[in-house]
Amino acid sequence: MALRLFNSLSKQIEVFEPLGLREAGGGPAVGMYCCGPTVYDYGHIGNFRTFVCADLVRRYLAFRGFSVTYVMNITDVEDKIIRRVRETGKTLREFTGVYEKAFLEDLATVGCRAPDHLPRATEYIPQIIELIGKLEQRGVAYRTDDGSVWFNISKYRACGCRYGVLKELDFENMRAGARVAADEYEKESVADFALWKGRVPEDGDVFWNSPWGEGRPGWHIECSAMSMAVLGPSFDLHLGGEDLAFPHHEDEIAQSEGAGVQAPGRPFVKHWVHCAHLLVDGKKMSKSLGNFFTIRDLAGKGYQGREIRQLLVSSHYRETFNFTLEGLQGARTALRRIDECVQKLIELAAGTIADPDSEFIGRFTEAMDDDLNVSRAWAVIFDWVREMNRTLTNRELTVGKAASAVAAWDRISGVLGLERPVESQAPAEIFALAEARVAAKKSRDFARADALREEIRLQGWVVEDTPKGPKLKRA
Ligand code: AMP
Ligand code: ZN
Repeated sequence: MALRLFNSLSKQIEVFEPLGLREAGGGPAVGMYCCGPTVYDYGHIGNFRTFVCADLVRRYLAFRGFSVTYVMNITDVEDKIIRRVRETGKTLREFTGVYEKAFLEDLATVGCRAPDHLPRATEYIPQIIELIGKLEQRGVAYRTDDGSVWFNISKYRACGCRYGVLKELDFENMRAGARVAADEYEKESVADFALWKGRVPEDGDVFWNSPWGEGRPGWHIECSAMSMAVLGPSFDLHLGGEDLAFPHHEDEIAQSEGAGVQAPGRPFVKHWVHCAHLLVDGKKMSKSLGNFFTIRDLAGKGYQGREIRQLLVSSHYRETFNFTLEGLQGARTALRRIDECVQKLIELAAGTIADPDSEFIGRFTEAMDDDLNVSRAWAVIFDWVREMNRTLTNRELTVGKAASAVAAWDRISGVLGLERPVESQAPAEIFALAEARVAAKKSRDFARADALREEIRLQGWVVEDTPKGPKLKRA
């Protein structure tokens, strides 16, 4: 079986096959790009649904043997940022630096691995200018008197290119030919959009020199330039939230293919994945409704990043997800149930090394290969937890089986980004000391039990006696 994913280009579930253009270190190479954050505020739980989804895709591709290069850009110049820079009186970098740092911290909190590349738009201005230059040369971009450059949709279409590949567009009833300057614009209008925006007084110190005079890039061209600069003119997989499909991704395709930098017959991107939005209590998140949560807000309520992640990876990426605090509480309970089971398995396995349980991994893989069917995957996992708990209670599980179960869970939790917290991963020799201490206490040799506790402490761990038996934690 092969991995199948929904492709927003064909609107179908397809076998995921990379273009085969990249140098592969291990398995077949995949170049993957996800539109990253606009660093003008703290990211909200909706943004992180998309980033967790992209991280899950990356981890699953690696699990399936692909050698992934993952790029996520940092949008550090666009309309909203410039407005906020003006209001705060800070420099662009001072302002965006705060939110970029917070974003990377939050990304780690929810268990996302750092992308391989995190290009900042402001560091790709030469590539952006070069790309706009190519569009101008090919006659699909034009200048206006204010020093701006625009993408010309009718010229692009006249060259035989299609505008409207991600979204069906009704050109007859749309305002073809109109121009739009804003980075985020009305979804229903087909309009020439800004590639380069001539400098205006409100931009303050945010401007660069260009062949068209002082100005700054439009948001859409930033992603075309950065993705192609890092991954090449044709790459395998592009992700983002569903709101970005039109116009942002449509514009990315038009700019990148309009510049004619791909080899004949090759696309800019082969496979597009869009993650559905997250609602809170059934509504679009908004500060005025009081249903707006950042990762920091949830941490302030006592929730761990791993619990937030558990909730986010419980829903299918193409379904709108309704986030509630009750749901988060449910995720906490579910995670505890798994952790407790795995902890018992670890204790029984006592450091024995075994091959992962291939049957469990096989059922998980079959579910995930089906367009990342996490609902089926979770059903497989909870069946497994039930079965493990039953056999543990009945003392039917051998040490070898427990070790093989632990090894399988290590792989599966590594895909879901729900690896066990370090506290429960005491090495086998520490477990052995803890077990010897239990035996010493049973035989009422308290001096030896105390000596063993001290020995464990010296090795960086503490034993806590709980009603369920001793637990090991990092000192
Ligand atoms: P932004 O920082 O606004 O550019 O958004 C970063 C990413 O988060 C983009 O891929 C958006 O599509 C995505 N996003 C924004 N709002 C939501 C939401 N409510 N649910 C899921 N993804 C979202
Ligand atoms: Zn983008």
